[in-house]
Amino acid sequence: MARKIVVIEDEPDILEVLTFNLQREGYEVTGATDGADGLDTLRRVQPDLVLLDLMLPTMDGIEVCRNAKADPALKDTPIIVVSAKGEESDIVLGLGVGADDYITKPFSPKELIARVQAVLRRGPMRSTQSETRRVVRGELTIDLDRHEVLVAGARVDLTATEMRLLHYLSCYPGRVFTRDQLLSRAIGPDVVVTDRNIDVHVRALRKKLDTLSNYIETVRGVGYRFRDTD
Ligand code: CA
Repeated sequence: MARKIVVIEDEPDILEVLTFNLQREGYEVTGATDGADGLDTLRRVQPDLVLLDLMLPTMDGIEVCRNAKADPALKDTPIIVVSAKGEESDIVLGLGVGADDYITKPFSPKELIARVQAVLRRGPMRSTQSETRRVVRGELTIDLDRHEVLVAGARVDLTATEMRLLHYLSCYPGRVFTRDQLLSRAIGPDVVVTDRNIDVHVRALRKKLDTLSNYIETVRGVGYRFRDTD
């Protein structure tokens, strides 16, 4: 059965291009051209994935995302925010209200399809469900129970904060997190951290990861993600 995608986009040209390319890949596409109608369409169609423009008439994309994530029937439906270049603060906002990923305009059809497939493969973000105590990614091994991190077989010493940060990111390869999300989810509000600046911890972590430092990628203006090795 074809996977269903709802595209919420008010610019007819872009909606057409998105629809065309997704249909060509075998997806069943339903379009909506404003936010309120988009939300209704989501509730009616119950799609496998949503492509959501942010600047929309009647209800903006952030509000649509917030509403969808508050709806038990839609909360696990992955949302990819579609944003214009240079609107990183909107992307951060979108990720903050539960969007799973984003793509910036202009994008190539190839990029679009790759992103859609990646998000469908990863599935919705469910807290802790995909977090295992021992994570192996390429040449990196993280073992929480043994409080051990191995870089190409060699043990490296991490602080508790670095360990939590690395473990969290590595559990969700390819998924971008904002700094706020990392602070609250990876490090936790209850933990006393001497420096609540994520960048400082990432810098220290990369140094210790040495040859694997590129496993943690900076997403300019947005946050960080663990390299998707697929
Ligand atoms: Ca728009």
